Amino acid sequence: MIRHHLSDALLTGYSAGQLPEAFNLIVATHISPCDECRARLHAHDAVGGALLDSADGVAVSDDSLAATMARIRAMPAAPRPVRAERGLFPAPLRDYVGGDADAVRWHSVGGGVKQAILPTAPGATARLLRIPGGVSVPDHGHNGLELTLVLQGAFADETARFGPGDLEIADEDLEHTPIAEPGPDCICLAVTDAPLRFNGLIPRLLQPFLKI
Ligand code: ZN
Ligand code: ZN
Repeated sequence: MIRHHLSDALLTGYSAGQLPEAFNLIVATHISPCDECRARLHAHDAVGGALLDSADGVAVSDDSLAATMARIRAMPAAPRPVRAERGLFPAPLRDYVGGDADAVRWHSVGGGVKQAILPTAPGATARLLRIPGGVSVPDHGHNGLELTLVLQGAFADETARFGPGDLEIADEDLEHTPIAEPGPDCICLAVTDAPLRFNGLIPRLLQPFLKI
């Protein structure tokens, strides 16, 4: 049961093809198993399609609308989500990794935490994180947007608990210390568009090496 979903701003940006590649990936990966957000996306796509149809009519005289529609048409289409049939990773993520969780080349970043940075275009960074049960990510704030999608296990922070399929949206206003629940490793897909602000000295010193 998924409790934490995409924002309208993310769905609108995704539907219009305006998000950086890493954000497209995490949106598509959340939507694959999420019936609720898939239905919301179809509603967004329908509105966008209706606007495009009306822009093709002869009655449109608003230059700014026509310019906007031309811009939307020129944008590359984001990958459309499909339902995952099996395995841990939904299909859009499996395509990026070239397989399921066992195909990931993990790199240790200390404290038992492992990460794998996924190849995406500049503008935002996508990484897989593997956090042992009971281990916390150092407390930090955010210079931009941080999206975290749980694929296995669960974590909790000052705001809520996030289980498989849940997406946390963290921005400049949130300072938090995510901690993985005891049990299987917590595996997440995390996307950021700006470096995190770590409050501790050691994480700050390590930050350039971890590329977080
Ligand atoms: Zn959702
Ligand atoms: Zn964070």
